[in-house]
Amino acid sequence: MYEKERRVAIEAVRQACRLSQTVRATLVSEETMAKKDKSPVTVADFGAQAVVVSALLAAFPGEPVVGEEEAAELRTAEGRSLKEKVVQNVQAVVPSLDEAGILAAIDHATCDGGSTGRYWTLDPIDGTKGFLRGEQYAVALALMEEGQVVLGVLGCPNLPIDPRKPDNGKGCLFVAVKGEGAVMRSLEGSTERPLAVTAVTDPAQASFCESVESGHSSHGHSAQISERLGVVASPVRMDSQCKYAAVARGEASVYLRLPTRSDYEEKIWDHAAGWIVVKEAGGEVTDVRGEPLDFGQGRTLRRNKGVVATNGRVHGQVIEAVRKVLGM
Ligand code: AMP
Ligand code: MG
Repeated sequence: MYEKERRVAIEAVRQACRLSQTVRATLVSEETMAKKDKSPVTVADFGAQAVVVSALLAAFPGEPVVGEEEAAELRTAEGRSLKEKVVQNVQAVVPSLDEAGILAAIDHATCDGGSTGRYWTLDPIDGTKGFLRGEQYAVALALMEEGQVVLGVLGCPNLPIDPRKPDNGKGCLFVAVKGEGAVMRSLEGSTERPLAVTAVTDPAQASFCESVESGHSSHGHSAQISERLGVVASPVRMDSQCKYAAVARGEASVYLRLPTRSDYEEKIWDHAAGWIVVKEAGGEVTDVRGEPLDFGQGRTLRRNKGVVATNGRVHGQVIEAVRKVLGM
């Protein structure tokens, strides 16, 4: 199933990864980092969105996309130099796109999502802090039907191909189709390896991962949960949906995303691709109460709070500890 969608999505995510790598190499300087200047992220965000959406529209004309960015800023006088950088970087990977087409593609990704019909959801650069630091980030694309995720592709340019040999090559692509399992390939290769979660059944033996940013997931609560479960190893901190990939390929057994504010609603593009990669690798993903993630509510997971992804085997025990620590 979804053979054409899978092929188009993989190629689109690859092109967006190439763009993001070029931007990272040419636009991020010491000065950018020192001044906390976010403009390279902006160029990569807009550029990656343009590349992915144009590829989707070429293959599936008119199909809606729920994405993070819109081009209004690029159409203003102040946005002109930013726009020129975006156009130049997009044309470096897809020479046939012109400025009007690039802006139109960015603006196309403004659909509201929901529980009916078919649409794509895209995070062009997930984990922008990691992107700037030269650490983990992901291009995350998923296809939704009737509010359900049916296909997910995660491009992770900086993720080691073999987590046990982190210096032996980087750049991974994770692909999952509903009911057909999840696979990993190198970003530029075509050999696919099926993914499976760990067989760990004792949460004390499980390796945990969480956001680098304590504003995105409460580090204090995760430490209390680990203590309650008897976990001794410190959590691995990683930006972006690479955490879902880590659980799917058995590098970690648990990913905790614990709310830091009661009013935050998780965005569907931050979870859809990662969700299906973990589910199809045999794992489980729920919110912090153990409820399934409801992707059919619009642009956000407004019925859910936080996220817990595991190998499935330890899910119940982890949720129990999460509920106790969060007082639910
Ligand atoms: P991560 O790299 O896992 O920390 O996730 C990055 C994502 O966190 C970004 O794409 C944002 O959409 C999202 N984000 C921003 N603010 C928050 C927040 N307060 N709680 C949870 N996620 C957030
Ligand atoms: Mg994101």
